[in-house]
Amino acid sequence: MTAEIIDGKAAAARLRTQIAEEVAALARQHVKPGLAVVLVGEDPASQIYVRSKGKQTKEVGMNSFAHHLPSTVSQIELLALIRTLNLDTAVDGILVQLPLPAHIDADLVLRAIDPSKDVDGFHPLNAGLIATGAAGVAPCTPLGCLQLIKSVRQDLSGLHAVVVGRSNIVGKPMGQLLLREDCTATICHRFSRDVPAITRTGDILVVAVGRPELVRRDWIKPGAIVIDVGINRLSKPDGATTLVGDVHFEDARNIAAAVTPVPGGVGPMTIACLLRNTLDAARGRLDRNTSIPQ
Ligand code: NAP
Repeated sequence: MTAEIIDGKAAAARLRTQIAEEVAALARQHVKPGLAVVLVGEDPASQIYVRSKGKQTKEVGMNSFAHHLPSTVSQIELLALIRTLNLDTAVDGILVQLPLPAHIDADLVLRAIDPSKDVDGFHPLNAGLIATGAAGVAPCTPLGCLQLIKSVRQDLSGLHAVVVGRSNIVGKPMGQLLLREDCTATICHRFSRDVPAITRTGDILVVAVGRPELVRRDWIKPGAIVIDVGINRLSKPDGATTLVGDVHFEDARNIAAAVTPVPGGVGPMTIACLLRNTLDAARGRLDRNTSIPQ
């Protein structure tokens, strides 16, 4: 079997086009969604992500507000900025780029964001809403993964979905979103016994571990949909670097029904879903402002 390669770049481009059309329609109601991105320090990878987010935000017609703070910024100063952004009516979404320097309590900062502006979906209130099946902001990466899965198969009801990794930003919310689709969801982690025996039963396999090419052919059920979230930078003998996922791509291609590549799979969808969450937050603000109090 040669698997379909799920083109995340193309799917993200389609989603951005749709978002740009919806942003243009909102502009007719004099609403322009705004996304504030807060970057602390000089981490090169974070700088690349933040630049890319700012560029794509503007490309779909939204306002992009960049706040770049030095790595020496105090927690109090950072929390003060979050409070200002919470109150700023031009800002619909607030994203604090992770990781933060060690002297800052990232959980405290993320919890300080107004949950209605938490477009990353990391606030415990949103995590709780998603876990209880209510309307809340879901984290962008699992949202993107779900869209890629559904681009292969719309009805996921009754399928066994196996997620490897239980982080709060990918694995756990991924499991919740798949449960909401009526999958039987299993989440594996470092203490799970015989992980390959579990993953081999997955009609859907989502891997978010951060271990290069951990998942080999004998981990994959023939005909499964395989979503590789991992991004691992490897050095080549000539000093150049290459990106690989958590799944051995060629192995997966030979046994799965569909697989996402790295790069060009989940990554592009993550930013597109961030824009979707920002647009939804702007719509929510518009609805709250125009609803008639009883
Ligand atoms: P994380 O917070 O480090 O979590 C990794 C998870 O994998 C943990 O739950 C850990 O289990 C589990 N794990 C580690 N080794 C394992 C093993 N041998 N077998 C089973 N489970 C194992 O990582 P993350 O933030 O979720 O990110 C995971 C990967 O996705 C990274 O490569 C990251 O760069 C990438 N990522 C990509 C995107 C994107 O947009 N494409 C977005 C976010 C993350 P324990 O909980 O037991 O420690």
